Amino acid sequence: MIDLNYTTDILLKLLNTPSPTGDTDAAIALVEQAFSALKIATRRTGKGALLATIPGKKSDAPRAISGHVDTLGGMVKEIKPDGRLKISNLGGYYPGSIVGEYCTVHTGDGKTVSGTVLLNRQSVHIHKVNNIHEQAADLQQTEIRLDARTSSAEETAALGISVGDFVSWEPRATLTDSGFIKSRHLDDKAGVAAMLGAAEALSRRNIIPAQTTHFYISTFEEVGHGAAAGIPANTAELLVVDMGVVGEGQTGDEYSVSICAKDSSGPYDLHLRRRLESLARANGIPYRVDVFVSYGSDGSAALRAGLDARVGLIGPGVDGSHAYERTHQEALQATAGLIAAYLQKD
Ligand SMILES: [Zn+2]
Repeated sequence: MIDLNYTTDILLKLLNTPSPTGDTDAAIALVEQAFSALKIATRRTGKGALLATIPGKKSDAPRAISGHVDTLGGMVKEIKPDGRLKISNLGGYYPGSIVGEYCTVHTGDGKTVSGTVLLNRQSVHIHKVNNIHEQAADLQQTEIRLDARTSSAEETAALGISVGDFVSWEPRATLTDSGFIKSRHLDDKAGVAAMLGAAEALSRRNIIPAQTTHFYISTFEEVGHGAAAGIPANTAELLVVDMGVVGEGQTGDEYSVSICAKDSSGPYDLHLRRRLESLARANGIPYRVDVFVSYGSDGSAALRAGLDARVGLIGPGVDGSHAYERTHQEALQATAGLIAAYLQKD
């Protein structure tokens, strides 16, 4: 039912559209276009998220499905006297995971300047290497070397760069012949691609969802308040689509959809979870149930903000989260398939 080429293509386009949390307009525009190509009406919310609504056979218990396009990133904190940049983090990550990464500074006048994240004392031919791990654990010990001739704060300012400019990391999005997708920011662009994959499948086959369903594309998840606003008030159920945690001690893998039983904010709705599990079984969709011990979602944000609804969380299994991540097309397929099954089921 799911068109995996469509879903993968949308994912790669999204991955190649920078959207650090707080600077997400281009990614929202891309998703908006994708929904409008499917003839699904959209509107933007007050704080810049996107709401796409598919009318259902019934609308007595409307549903919302959310995913986030905002990603980890940085912001220029300071222009150093030697022209290099100090950054402040957007979202939570281990600074060592960006050391050596290419990046792009997005200036106020709409230009971009490329650079590389380095340790302040990077050259082993000058500095002793024994404190390299200590340095890599501290964002204060990293800097951005710009690909421009600058050796002073004035020269960097003349490039159009100012404190407050957003910085995005090179995603290095790659689809391998073996079906793996490795990239930064699969969290949660893989989830959003799966949502579109499900919407496309229903639209292509002229299937009307069981209930009126709002697709909420969130823009501030990584900083904790994404879906705190914008989910329509009469929503009876919220299905959050966000990355499944894969790694030591987890049951999830890169070939399945993860169903989250509990995260740091507590258990997800039991009734909804049981329904999702049985839907996956009935449709032959590979799924794994897991507890995410160090994790919060837009579901937690919506509940804390007072949403009175059943909330569930599913997502493609993603390895190496908040660093150079990886999933497999099979996980995309499983996630999109479960969303499509959920949309159709009473
Ligand atoms: Zn996420």
